[in-house]
Amino acid sequence: MTTSTFETIGKPPVDQFKVKPNLDPDNVGEFDWEQVYSELDWLPGGGLNKAHEAIDRHANGPRRDKIAMIWEGKNGEREDYTFGQMKELTDRFAGALQNLGIETGDRVFLFLDRIPELYIAFFGILKAGAVVGPLFSAFGPDPVRDRLEDSGAKILVTQPDLRRKVAEILSQLPALEHTIIINKNGRDESALEAGDLDYDAQMEAAPSDFSIVNTSQYDYSIMHYTSGTTGKPKGAVHRHQACVQQYATGKWALDLHEDDIYWCTADPGWVTGTSYGMMAPWTNGVTQLIYEGGFRASAWFEQIQKHKVTVWYTAPTAIRMLMKAGVAVPHRYDLSSLRFSASVGEPLNPEAVVWGEEAIGMPFHDNWWQTETGAIMCANYAAMPIKPGSMGRPIPGVELGIVDDDFNAVPAGEDGNLVVRPNWPGMFHAYWENSTMYNSRFKKGWYITGDRARVDEDGYFWFVGRADDVINTAGHLVGPFEVESALIEHPDVAEAGVIGKPDPIAMEIVKAFVSLNDGVEESTALRNDIMRFAREKLSTMVAPREIEFVPSLPKTRSGKIMRRLLKARELGLPEGDTSTLEDDD
Ligand code: AMP
Repeated sequence: MTTSTFETIGKPPVDQFKVKPNLDPDNVGEFDWEQVYSELDWLPGGGLNKAHEAIDRHANGPRRDKIAMIWEGKNGEREDYTFGQMKELTDRFAGALQNLGIETGDRVFLFLDRIPELYIAFFGILKAGAVVGPLFSAFGPDPVRDRLEDSGAKILVTQPDLRRKVAEILSQLPALEHTIIINKNGRDESALEAGDLDYDAQMEAAPSDFSIVNTSQYDYSIMHYTSGTTGKPKGAVHRHQACVQQYATGKWALDLHEDDIYWCTADPGWVTGTSYGMMAPWTNGVTQLIYEGGFRASAWFEQIQKHKVTVWYTAPTAIRMLMKAGVAVPHRYDLSSLRFSASVGEPLNPEAVVWGEEAIGMPFHDNWWQTETGAIMCANYAAMPIKPGSMGRPIPGVELGIVDDDFNAVPAGEDGNLVVRPNWPGMFHAYWENSTMYNSRFKKGWYITGDRARVDEDGYFWFVGRADDVINTAGHLVGPFEVESALIEHPDVAEAGVIGKPDPIAMEIVKAFVSLNDGVEESTALRNDIMRFAREKLSTMVAPREIEFVPSLPKTRSGKIMRRLLKARELGLPEGDTSTLEDDD
């Protein structure tokens, strides 16, 4: 993303937000995280638990009967849950897990659609002191097996159709002790397979006098798998402590206030769906909408109208898809409840920021963060002029830097590596059982984000690109290695090289270059078969959208595929220095 051709959108009048913005970035003064820590409701004895901060502290106080979750199902069903009800249900699930022998630090994974029980199980797991691992329900068997195997998960909580999808891998996981099946409203008739546990029965049998495990702020709470250039995705592990930054940025970057109805469109399989689809609104005691349905422009605007959404947090690919549907669609709906909208996950084109003004009456506020940061790090705040195309300015208490490859600061306006001064509260504390990879992300007093960016004279940060081969498709990071590994399992594929190909909607799509085994003929039928094979193994999102047959792939002498060269060829760019073509790089 280059510097915007658009003018700065001037500091908006305060009443555009219909409330006083929570943060004036020009008047932060001396900032100390201690101020924010003191706003948390620590457990007796000094413990900290995300589930207590998000649910119990409200259930124990004046917000007990306030609606925490408005759920709209994919068939239009509606269920509302107060903070008080959420407390009782999450206590029960935590008790059920303890009945099954779950202890502090055990891993319990979720493989569910966005149903209310996903949210109940999530906080129940945290209350039991265990580590929760949410998985995206579109995943095929391979990503699910890789994640359960790597984490040594003891329990998988899933639903009948998804259980059937991954049935073949469940017996390959020695650490997995139980599979709990949630058959939401009896949606599936033949729900349980031999050995499965029924969620309703477990809830029924759970003790009614559960008390939350007194976790410390330093105990692990959640792990999200994220992709790198090499190897399989790694489990980025966060601590209970991260909730302080999720709470604070909910106020500062999303401008949450007591009477808001908030909607985050991200799925909890990805970090945005937990940090901002659970923690930020609920630690702030705000009512949020959970919509189970998928993307459709009219359905989304209808959700805003119907539930009177006031604060909306979404992603650039979705905004570009909305733009494609045209302004006539939002103009058919009453969106007057909306007062603040924000976006994350990919660069937000300046056109999209400005389109927001025409379509929904306000610009989208871009912000930047990643799985490893656990929470928003840089944002266009409510009370600050937006520079369309920029990710905004660092949040109070976070130092971002732009450095060259030797970690020297580069001057304003020049591209460099985006780095963060370690020990911000939301910081990840491990890649699960991969300390070498974890340590490699910290050098010379900085955490290396893997992004390239620049900062301007006013302190606004601008995203330039990834420093590695990781592909960002529709806001989801895809590691090429994972896709290549799946492709070469196809019986006709000899080798595969995977790159991100620029795309006007999804930013990048996954493109694979494939060479076939000797004697195998190229054909459209074979191309389709390989695509289907990859979709079933991985998911539609991660599998290649384009496959090109090539006689062979460019490799280094040690046999590493040179994706950089594939990408240059794809884009018609100079192939650059190819001297390493036959060398190790
Ligand atoms: P993930 O860890 O899956 O949340 O992906 C994080 C990555 O998405 C970042 O390292 C960036 O490459 C990209 N990203 C997130 N937010 C933005 C943004 N506002 N602008 C540009 N890229 C972003």
